[in-house]
Amino acid sequence: MKKNSGAKFAVILTLMIFVAVALIVVLNNKDDEPISETSSKTPPSIEGQPIFGETDAPVTIVEFGDFKCPACKAWGDTVFPKLVKDYIESGDVNFAYVNVPFHGQESVLAALAAESVYEQDPSVYWEFHKILFSSQPETAKHDELWVTIEKLLELTSNMPSISPEKLTLDLEQELTMPKVEKDTALYKKHGVGVTPTIIIKDKKISDPFDYEEIKKILDAELSAVNE
Ligand code: CA
Repeated sequence: MKKNSGAKFAVILTLMIFVAVALIVVLNNKDDEPISETSSKTPPSIEGQPIFGETDAPVTIVEFGDFKCPACKAWGDTVFPKLVKDYIESGDVNFAYVNVPFHGQESVLAALAAESVYEQDPSVYWEFHKILFSSQPETAKHDELWVTIEKLLELTSNMPSISPEKLTLDLEQELTMPKVEKDTALYKKHGVGVTPTIIIKDKKISDPFDYEEIKKILDAELSAVNE
């Protein structure tokens, strides 16, 4: 009887070790997996991304967005100005934008253009960002074609530092595609499945339009920084 329970214990112990090892293997693989549904434990790297606000602000908000996405336009028109007024102008928080071209070829074209403008003159990037979203047709007809090379050239025509020849080349020959692919790798790493997705440090905001939730997280992050 005693021997029997000892054998049982050995079997259970072996099973427990097996489960623990399997769990470790699964968790490790999860970290290496480029397409993960779970948010990465580390904040998104914003290296090489356009930054709005003070570059040395202690807290960064990262938007994963798409110029072709109506909800992203709505977020930029409603939530973003509040963030600028309450957190960004003071230098406490800055804002980075990462392309997530979810809406087909037009999304890709818009992202290629944004990367070209940022590469040619970072100081006009946010102006371009704003007029590109403003050019998006009303939500009801957002499926209509509007992002074209002609349109993108028109939007930059009053920006002397943006070369139309360079922009045309970047779009036609997809010369800024490596930058767009870098963004793609980043959104996949952080399990972004919808646009806009807002991440603050390592926290993904469940509803990007819930300003109170964003405020709560920002205030907590800022008080942790000031401690
Ligand atoms: Ca980018």
